[in-house]
Amino acid sequence: MNKLNIGIDLGGTKIESVVLDEDSNILFRQRIFTESQKGPEHVLNQIHDIYLQALDSIENKEHSLGIGTPGSISKSTGLLRNSTISCQNGLPLQDLIKNKLNHSFVIENDANCFALAESFTGAGKNYDLVFGVIMGTGCGGGFIHNGELRTGPQRLAGEWGHSVINPNGPKCFCGKNGCVSTYISGTGLEEMIYKNLKIKVSAEKFLSQATYNEDEADILNIFYEYYGLSLANIINTIDPDVIVLGGGLSNHQNLYTKALQMVYKNIFCEEPNTPILKNILGDSAGVIGAAIIGKNATSTL
Ligand SMILES: [Zn+2]
Repeated sequence: MNKLNIGIDLGGTKIESVVLDEDSNILFRQRIFTESQKGPEHVLNQIHDIYLQALDSIENKEHSLGIGTPGSISKSTGLLRNSTISCQNGLPLQDLIKNKLNHSFVIENDANCFALAESFTGAGKNYDLVFGVIMGTGCGGGFIHNGELRTGPQRLAGEWGHSVINPNGPKCFCGKNGCVSTYISGTGLEEMIYKNLKIKVSAEKFLSQATYNEDEADILNIFYEYYGLSLANIINTIDPDVIVLGGGLSNHQNLYTKALQMVYKNIFCEEPNTPILKNILGDSAGVIGAAIIGKNATSTL
C-alpha cells in the first residue's frame, strides 16, 4: 500500500487537514476553528487533534506530513515571524509541533503551499514558471519553477506583498509605508474605502457591487491602478509563464479583464501576454499544497 500524505493548513480562523493519495485525490478532510484567542498552547492542541483525526483515517498509519502556516520560520533564529496567528509569532513553532506530534514533517508558508498546489493540480498545471498570488486579508505570493518551490536563501521569494510601491503611502503593519498589501489586499482596500468614503464595508462586498457612484468608482480605479503596478512588477522581474490568483479578492471578475489592461500597460514589453488566471482549487489549495510539500520532501530524503 502506498504511503498517504497528510496536509494541515493553519489559518487565522480555521485549521484544515486533508489526506491525499499518490495522485493527490482527497481521501479525508476536516476543518476546525483555530481559536487563537485561547493562546498558543490551545492552538497547538488543535493542530494535534486535527492531525490525530486525519491519522485515524489511515489504515496502516504510514504517511508523510506537510504543514502550511501564515508567515515563515526564520532561518537564523528558528522562530516564526509575520504570522497572522499572532500568538504564535516569536515561538519556535517547528520544535513545538515536532514535540507534540512526534512525527517528521515539513512546514512552509501558506502562500507557497497555494502556489505549489495550483501548479501541480490547479490553474498553473501546464506551465513551467508559476507565480501564485494571494489577495486575501493580506497579500502573499509563491514561486514555482518546473514543479519545485523556490524559497531563496532568506526564505523571502514570493514575499511581494511587502514590496513598497508608494513610499508616501499608508502605513503597513510591517513598518514600511505603501506596501503592495496596503493597496490590494482586503485589509488595504477596506482601509482605503474607510479613509476616503467613511464607510465600513468588506472588500469582497465592495468588489461585488453591481453599480458604483462616482466616489466609489474613483476608489475602484485606484485599486485597479495599484493592482496593475503590483502585478506588472512581478512580470517585469521574473516573467512567469502564468500568474494564478487566490484569496477572497480573486473572485472579482474585472481582475481578469478590465484591470488586466492596467497590468499590461505597466509591463516593459510591447505585446504583453502573461496569462493571469483564477485559481481552480479555491479554499483547498493551501491544504493540498501542504500535503504535496510533505510528500515531496519525504520522497527526496
Ligand atoms: Zn508591508
